[in-house]
Amino acid sequence: MRTSRSKARTEPRGQAELKKRLVEASWILAMEGHGDLVWGHASVRAPGSDTFWIKPTGMGLDEVRVEDLLLCDLDGEVVQGTGPRHIEVYIHSEVMRARPDVCAVVHTHAIHPTVFASLGVPLQPVTHEATVFVPPDISRFDETTDLINTPERGRTMAHALGNRDALLLVSHGIVTSGTTIERAAINALLLDRATRAQLLLGNAPIKVVSNEADGLAKRKLLLSDAHQALRWGYLKRDLARKRGETEGSLKGPGRGRR
Ligand SMILES: [Zn+2]
Repeated sequence: MRTSRSKARTEPRGQAELKKRLVEASWILAMEGHGDLVWGHASVRAPGSDTFWIKPTGMGLDEVRVEDLLLCDLDGEVVQGTGPRHIEVYIHSEVMRARPDVCAVVHTHAIHPTVFASLGVPLQPVTHEATVFVPPDISRFDETTDLINTPERGRTMAHALGNRDALLLVSHGIVTSGTTIERAAINALLLDRATRAQLLLGNAPIKVVSNEADGLAKRKLLLSDAHQALRWGYLKRDLARKRGETEGSLKGPGRGRR
């Protein structure tokens, strides 16, 4: 199904809520250390839609507001909104094209997973978080360390992601996905903690980690709706405390813009 431009401009019901949640997730990603000045971006779409919302380039994850968001199609073209789009829009468009189940994609230059990817070693379940991603070992995209700035690179990157929800872009960053923006963002946060934990070991030999049975049990718990709701609920409260803003202000016309 292809959403026409005129249809996109009418903003079907539910889009306002999607946009608010995307901004909230972007702010939480920034709060949790995923910001890289104005680089890194998240996207969201309604189930079955061939258009998605994404922030424009030139502003940080912590700076974006609902009114800034762009609506893009699966060719990476802007169909609504006036800001300049990220040249890496194809990370989002090609994953969403390949994965009808994916409604949200996150790409950041999170430092811990990026450094970890350069080690070229398997991700080990040193802490709870890694059990979400292994076994089998986390996927890596190493065809290029350059930007994913063409549809072709987007397609090969989406192929590397496959049917999983996390990918290391070697010497670049990470891509995570999910059925909701909250799940995609949580995957990014978990991947950051998982790789940070393993990096803390340095060159020390890894002697004890979760066995496969324990790991799979923990994965089931961590990915459960109840656990995700608890995690996201805390992050939203933490966001409100640290920014001094509430969800309602996400709709505001640039109020408190930074
Ligand atoms: Zn990037």
